[in-house]
Amino acid sequence: MQLTSAQSSLVVMAIYLSFALLELACTRLFAKDEQTRHDGILEVVSTLMLLVVTQPLILFTVGAIGQALVPQYANALAGIPFLAALALFLVFEDMMQYWWHRASHSFSWLYNLHRAHHNARYM
Ligand SMILES: [Zn+2]
Repeated sequence: MQLTSAQSSLVVMAIYLSFALLELACTRLFAKDEQTRHDGILEVVSTLMLLVVTQPLILFTVGAIGQALVPQYANALAGIPFLAALALFLVFEDMMQYWWHRASHSFSWLYNLHRAHHNARYM
């Protein structure tokens, strides 16, 4: 099965939404001990910033860099099976989250953007 770009994007969004709903259903996301209303607002704003600004910026930047440096590899993975694409997505997305978070704690200018995430008392 080969998906179009739009279908792949919908699958990615569905996966993200599924994990978000699982986290909402299975954790006390907005009802942690010592959590304030401000913490909840910060969580929502941070999530929206991640989805609307940070991740699209990273994806378009990486796409532009890839197109500039190695244009011959454009669509190199377009024909792989859906399950392989899903597995690659989950691994690379998780790695991106890990390295982004680690960089946010390693570079002071990034930590200044990230530290609000750790200001809550429950953290
Ligand atoms: Zn952190």
